[in-house]
Amino acid sequence: MDLYESARAMALALRPDQSIYCFHPKMLTRDAKAFVEGFSGKTAYAVKTNGEPFVLKTVAEAGITCFDVASPAEFAAVRAAAPNAEMLYMHPVKAQSDIRLALETYGIRTLALDHEDEVAKILRIVRALDLNPGDITLFVRIATKGHAAYELSRKFGAAPGHAVELLQRIDRIGFKCGLCFHVGSQIEEAETYERALASADWVRGRAGVELAGLDLGGGFPAEYGHDPRRKAPPTPSTAAILRTLKSDIVEWGFDGLPLVAEPGRAICARSISLVVRVLLKKGRRLYINDGIWSSLSDSWTGKITLPARHIPDPARRRRNGDPSKIVPFKVCGATCDSVDILSRPFWLPETVDTGDWIEIGHIGAYSLALRTHFNGFYPDTIVEVETAFHEEEGAPESFASIETMAD
Ligand SMILES: *Cc1c(COP(=O)(O)O)cnc(C)c1O
Repeated sequence: MDLYESARAMALALRPDQSIYCFHPKMLTRDAKAFVEGFSGKTAYAVKTNGEPFVLKTVAEAGITCFDVASPAEFAAVRAAAPNAEMLYMHPVKAQSDIRLALETYGIRTLALDHEDEVAKILRIVRALDLNPGDITLFVRIATKGHAAYELSRKFGAAPGHAVELLQRIDRIGFKCGLCFHVGSQIEEAETYERALASADWVRGRAGVELAGLDLGGGFPAEYGHDPRRKAPPTPSTAAILRTLKSDIVEWGFDGLPLVAEPGRAICARSISLVVRVLLKKGRRLYINDGIWSSLSDSWTGKITLPARHIPDPARRRRNGDPSKIVPFKVCGATCDSVDILSRPFWLPETVDTGDWIEIGHIGAYSLALRTHFNGFYPDTIVEVETAFHEEEGAPESFASIETMAD
């Protein structure tokens, strides 16, 4: 990976027409270590957030020895990057052949589920491989309610009463029992975890089985941008959430149990920024060389506001407008698809123009992972930078807006 002083230095040196990811390994190490230190249980990095080999390696070197995986490709990626790491197979709905691969080839001994038919699938493989159920922990995923940018309980999770039955069933078979939840991604209030802990406590009380662990899932928020005309939204920091969690865990009596958390976004978001080029300025529209089918699908949902910084092309001699006036630009993506338009504008100096670059910060989560080859655009150049997005001199000149811009 080529090394540059900053994303700006890279843009001015390479004058890239393709979008380029700028990786800051020290930031990834710092955020991984901060999570491990702030959480009183085991930290399992959620591989789906960003499963690139350089990310997995850096996370492992930072001291994370456990990974939350969901598919054979993720098992293989973790095995390659961190051969001795433990894997937790926390997808509640799994193919029979994938369960076999997990248990037989990868030695995985922790799995999640939210339905009795999944217990039957796992038991079939356990019997076929002549494994001892007592060596395997099955985490029953409970549905939770809360406020997150992406709510997931509509898809996965057993209602509390059902979770009680599942725990009793897997206990009778002889598996070790765990409880887990995943409150969604980018949670917006710390109480979300407390409500989930209350549910877990209710299920534990009714089930009357011995628990081998509690897994709190992911959802810990990363820092993003906001509309410069408005006050920053009151999303708590992950550090603050971890402090609150510590006392909530004691309060609900879970401090005696082995705990697990599965952070994704909170660990890798800040470590990567993306430099895109303005291919054309058409009034208040910017046509860029990336978009919702490449690195920006996460923002396309309209829930997340990515911070942006203007990198003017020094080759442009004449500019119109006032560089101190920050205005919203509608951002159109690279593909020919008419839905490839970001739902929130980028706030940039009025003077931004064709040929300039924009550095989009905190894009490490769900960006590289969600790239497609649609229309032939596939950003795949990664460089290393010594200065992280928010550490560069001067704050980003602008932020993408919270509001949807009127056409
Ligand atoms: C996606 C996912 C995570 C990671 O979520 P973040 O919001 O990125 O922290 C953790 N656990 C499970 C089960 C997931 O599906």
